Amino acid sequence: MRISPTAAYRLLVHVRRKGECLFWKGKSWAGGFRLYHEHDHSPVEPSIASWILWRGAMPKGRRIVRTCGNLRCIAPGHLEAVTPKEFAARFPVRTPPRGVDSAAHRVSGHQVYAARVSYAAGLSLLAIKRRLGIAPRTAWLLISGRTWAHIGGPVGTRSRQEAAALRYGRAE
Ligand SMILES: [Zn+2]
Repeated sequence: MRISPTAAYRLLVHVRRKGECLFWKGKSWAGGFRLYHEHDHSPVEPSIASWILWRGAMPKGRRIVRTCGNLRCIAPGHLEAVTPKEFAARFPVRTPPRGVDSAAHRVSGHQVYAARVSYAAGLSLLAIKRRLGIAPRTAWLLISGRTWAHIGGPVGTRSRQEAAALRYGRAE
């Protein structure tokens, strides 16, 4: 894959520095952040675009993880291309302990990670709890990092009012 000059421009123009990280502040969608090629409008993850611009081709069959844990970060030094096996080791899918059927154990580590990213990107807590089929409180606990703390990702980055509203049974 090649990154067109326009896509590269759009990648870099939306970058804001925060500490050691370079946060991409462009358009986001529910599952992540997207940048588009102008010729065919195919999406490319900003992190992948960053990788290609600075390091060349993406190694085949690998996916990017951020060593800093900030999902909007595209700092070349913070990106690592890992194999599916390495990815699975980093974000393990927890198997429910025997006899335990709590909602918190029904979601996987990867789902938790995705839920945190979606929340940070603007998806509502209500939509996330529906998607995962869990109780609002369970959803808030995992997004805010009170449960699944080892998974990382952006935790509880939006206001707690929304969570409070859900907890008291009001719609958003
Ligand atoms: Zn970073």
